[in-house]
Amino acid sequence: MYFIVFSLLVVLAVYRFRLTGRSSVIYTYIYIYIYICIYIKIKLEGGVLTTDLYTKPSNLNLYLHYDSYHSNCTKKGIVFSQALRVKMICSDPEKTQQHFGELRSNFQDRGYPSSIVDPACERVQNLSREDLLAGKGRRTRKPVRAPLVVTRNPRLPNLRSIINKYFHILQLSPNLMNVLSSPPQVIYRQPRNLQSHLVRAKLVENVKNVHKGCYKTHFKNCVTCNVLQETDRVYSNATGETFTIFSTITCMSVGVVYLINCKDCGKQYVGETGGELRVRHRGHRQEIRKGNTPLGQHFQICKNFDLIGLQSLVNASKQKREAIELRWIYRLGSLSPVGINVKDVRTVS
Ligand SMILES: [Zn+2]
Ligand SMILES: [Zn+2]
Repeated sequence: MYFIVFSLLVVLAVYRFRLTGRSSVIYTYIYIYIYICIYIKIKLEGGVLTTDLYTKPSNLNLYLHYDSYHSNCTKKGIVFSQALRVKMICSDPEKTQQHFGELRSNFQDRGYPSSIVDPACERVQNLSREDLLAGKGRRTRKPVRAPLVVTRNPRLPNLRSIINKYFHILQLSPNLMNVLSSPPQVIYRQPRNLQSHLVRAKLVENVKNVHKGCYKTHFKNCVTCNVLQETDRVYSNATGETFTIFSTITCMSVGVVYLINCKDCGKQYVGETGGELRVRHRGHRQEIRKGNTPLGQHFQICKNFDLIGLQSLVNASKQKREAIELRWIYRLGSLSPVGINVKDVRTVS
């Protein structure tokens, strides 16, 4: 009966989708329909609809094995979420207990100790099914804590307890107390696995026939091309190191990290723009006329400079461009007083 009602709803949703072109409703109905077909057994008993967990006969309960190198939080989370699923789907308390028993034995077969399975089941048992089905409502945002991102390794000690134990030492410094008002949040990054070694998500373009580097496109009437240096390498006057430019950059490139090289004193400046390089260069020429920025003031004294595009970042966010700009500032050593950049070093991550 229930399936028929939902089938009708899906048919109606498809019909409405054809008429109105609205897709969100149809996807919601189809999702509910599939969810009910796969996970829920519905019965009409004594005029009341009851729901129970449905598992396909072919289901082998192959949960993540306890011997896997995943973190303990992940394993605990799997047990808890499975217990939660049973509690939410099953409307009969007796059958819920029965499913909890099955869950315990399934997890034990996968090597989970009862010290992990039992507390998770007990915790879920103490929750009210009505509250769980009602949902959490709108969550209030927790204050953001500084993240400490670490590559996951099973040999790592318990970082959270170490941080909590010694955090008071950091609090002794007034500067650190301002930066870290609460202990940082430990976030584990997934280490490289076999898949990430073998599979690339990004298609690598055939770079053999593409010229990399910085190129002039206009040979007259372009003030940017006049100062643009045609090169595929960039030399740091501060460190003496040479770096290769892997992007193709012209005065019309959009989203660029670039270098301004003073030909008189050798000081360098790294900047970024989300717009065209030639538009940003126009902005710099105004700064030089007004002398209202460190770059403008520098080139009121020194007169000759050239421009090199370091990296093209099409469609990258400003945050990403700024991060790459900072990387180039440190690579080339262009921070004041050696160079012209006056970025706040504390923003470097
Ligand atoms: Zn040009
Ligand atoms: Zn100079």
